[in-house]
Parts: sequence; structure tokens; C-alpha cells
Amino acid sequence: MKLAEHVIMVFVDGVGMGSDDPAVNPVHSGVCPVLEEMLLHAVRVDATLGVPGLPQSATGQATLLTGHNAARLVGRHVEGFPGPALRDLVREHNLFRQLADRGRTVTFANAYYLDDVRAVMEHRRQSVTTVMALSVEGTVRTMERLAVNDAVYQDLTREALRPRGYAGPLVTPEQSAEHLAAIGLRHHLALFEYFQTDRAGHTGVYAEARVVLGLLDRFLTVLRERLVGTGAYLLLTSDHGNVEDMTSRRHTLAPVPLVWEQDGRPVDRASVERIMDLTGVTPWLVDRMEGTGVAWVSKADR
Ligand SMILES: [Zn+2]
Repeated sequence: MKLAEHVIMVFVDGVGMGSDDPAVNPVHSGVCPVLEEMLLHAVRVDATLGVPGLPQSATGQATLLTGHNAARLVGRHVEGFPGPALRDLVREHNLFRQLADRGRTVTFANAYYLDDVRAVMEHRRQSVTTVMALSVEGTVRTMERLAVNDAVYQDLTREALRPRGYAGPLVTPEQSAEHLAAIGLRHHLALFEYFQTDRAGHTGVYAEARVVLGLLDRFLTVLRERLVGTGAYLLLTSDHGNVEDMTSRRHTLAPVPLVWEQDGRPVDRASVERIMDLTGVTPWLVDRMEGTGVAWVSKADR
């Protein structure tokens, strides 16, 4: 198998593989046909990690981005932002670190609404992705980078920045996709995090879920088009279910999708199918990019 030279990883928070019934699952309400098609070919990855309770973001993301079972490490599923033990795990074992140690260029494409990166470094609450980016890149993208389109704001349009005083131009999800594709093709691995899906799931408002899925779909449509013929791979995955079941505002026990595409088509199916749960994603991806040959077949209860 040929090693992957460029990977664009789109991490979509709170999207599980749910019901086909559009009354329950807005993914099937006609608002995101591209995502729907991608999920049709997705491998289902367990997010419960063999730990009782509903899977949560801090432990799910730490597991996804390190290959270690973070929920088992701390004995429970942890919401939101990682505490000291999880931050240590992320700093030591994260995906960016593993690739950077092998000479690969990695980058977190999300923009932060800040002019000075020290404000992020000193912030008490840091997401798993923030901890990972700071520990390997030593920085994150600030407004300066967003101004030259060398960053993508998390909402895909920058509209959420307006109430915070942002006076720059708004963009379309299509333009955000072009910006991410350009960043991705300049690095071996570029990560973008979209969490409006999880936020919408927690509102319990079906119409809100449809809006954010629609924006995501416009973004994915152009991102896939831009990557055709470049040789780059697109990886889309999540940390736990939520928005796929709008009968509840809580996270779900649903498996999460793992989509691995090149030229807009699913590839390496047999390889991807060996990923059993969130612990398998990072070692699998490092193997796909580096041919490490390490055993990455995962089992949460191992
Ligand atoms: Zn989450």
C-alpha cells in the first residue's frame, strides 16, 4: 500500500452513526447529501471505550488523538476540557507529536480569536486539540493568519466572530474549504475541528442541527472537489454521537464514522475496517503515513 503523503483530517464533534429515520436523525433530512454519502461508506468505530456512561469530548478526543484509552486511564468519560492527567497524556502521545518526530509537518488549521498566542497558552481551559497543537507547533493560528486566509474559523463563515468585535470579511463555507485545502497541501497533516454539530445537538433544536449540517456539507463538497487529483487523503471522524439523535440533547452510545477517501472515493477499506474503536485511529493513521507496521488493531477492553 502506498503511504499517504498529505492528509486533511476533519474532526466533526458529536456525530454518530444513527438512525435512518429523518425524524430522529437530521443527517438524513436532505440537508447534507454529501455527508450522507460519506457516512454511507464510513466504517463504524466504537466510542464507548469499555467504560460505563455516555462518551464525552475530553476523553474521546484524547483517545482519538493519542491512541491511548483516556477514559480507562482516568476511570470515566470526561466532558469538555481535559484535566492535568489527560493533558499530560495528550502532550506525550499525540498524533502531531508522533508524526513530527518522524519528520512530518503537521498543523492545526483552526483560527483563535486572539492577536497574541500567549493568551491561549495561559488559558485555564484548553481543548485537546489546543493542547496538542501548542505542544508540537508551539503556537496556534491567530487573527493575523485568518486575515490572510491561512486559517479557518470554527463556524466556517466567521459570523460567530462579529459579536466579539471582528470587523474583517465574512466568508462562505466553500471559501473556508479552499483555505483548508491550501493549508493541507502545504503540510503532511492538517487538522480542522468543527464542533457546531455537537453544540446543535445539545440545543435539542432540530432546525439548528439542519443549519449547521448544511454549512458543513457545503464545506465538505468543495473540500473534496479541491483534493481531487492532488493525491491527498481526506479523513473525517468524530468523538461520540449526539446530533444524529435529536430526540435527546445528550451524547449517545452510537459508534462514530471513520471516512477515509482519496479523489472523493472511499479507499483502503480492508485497512480501515480493522479500526475497532477510537484507540485505533491514531496508530492506524501513523501507519498509513509512515508505514510503521505497528500493531494498531484496537480493542477498548484490551
Ligand atoms: Zn465531543
